[in-house]
Amino acid sequence: MARRNGTTAGAAVRLESLWKVYGTGQAEVVALRDVTVDFPASSFTAVMGPSGAGKTTLLQCAAGLAEPTRGSVRLGGTDIAGLQEKELALVRRQRMGFVFQSFNLLPALTGRENTVLPLQLAGRGVDRDWLELILERTGMREHIDRYPHELSGGQQQRVAVCRALLARPEVIFADEPTGALDSRTGEEILALLRASVDELDQTVVMVTHEPAAAACADRVLFLRDGRIAGTLEQPTAASLRAHLDALERAR
Ligand code: ADP
Ligand code: MG
Repeated sequence: MARRNGTTAGAAVRLESLWKVYGTGQAEVVALRDVTVDFPASSFTAVMGPSGAGKTTLLQCAAGLAEPTRGSVRLGGTDIAGLQEKELALVRRQRMGFVFQSFNLLPALTGRENTVLPLQLAGRGVDRDWLELILERTGMREHIDRYPHELSGGQQQRVAVCRALLARPEVIFADEPTGALDSRTGEEILALLRASVDELDQTVVMVTHEPAAAACADRVLFLRDGRIAGTLEQPTAASLRAHLDALERAR
């Protein structure tokens, strides 16, 4: 891929010199301090760190859900910090996917209606064959026409994964996607995210505090006090625990 000024070849998302400050004066909280990082295309990155480290803020800034105080967020060739709210909404619906801890499905819509909603709101048609493939891969074909309250937590999260995949987004952001699930169901959702990278060429950025979840990623990024405190390539649950212990001792 051609290198563009200021971006690394193959980066789906690039955060550059990113700062996020909440509040002012006595109430000021610096949630991100000069964070620069690439999320390579077709790779799975986990973001870890203690509570309050800035993980959710990083994800929200990367996803255009929070405005950085300073710095830039590039999605492919687009600097999303420079976009108006309306353009940003379109970018989010068409070029990003989201999976949250709390599923975030609309209760009055079926799983299928929830799945196609972002594309409908973006005025885009749905690729029926792709939708069928996604339903097949996520095991949701039989259940997709039910309402959220008729589905288990794991099935609701599968709907959220279907919704995230449908637009073939440039990146999927997941914030604690297994946090509300039992461990076996959580493993199934992680396997789906992993398969979306390996088989469907997706890019995934996932916040988690669980070493077992982060071990599914290609790379783990550690945040502490709003700064990047290290990275680990090809993590295992054991190497992650050792790294987390070392970070804890360095405090
Ligand atoms: P994490 O997800 O790693 O737990 P967060 O990104 O949620 O961390 O928070 C980072 C810091 O920013 C914390 O000190 C938190 O209290 C603060 N913070 C997060 N959101 C807000 C907000 N909307 N207003 C003020 N402070 C916030
Ligand atoms: Mg958080």
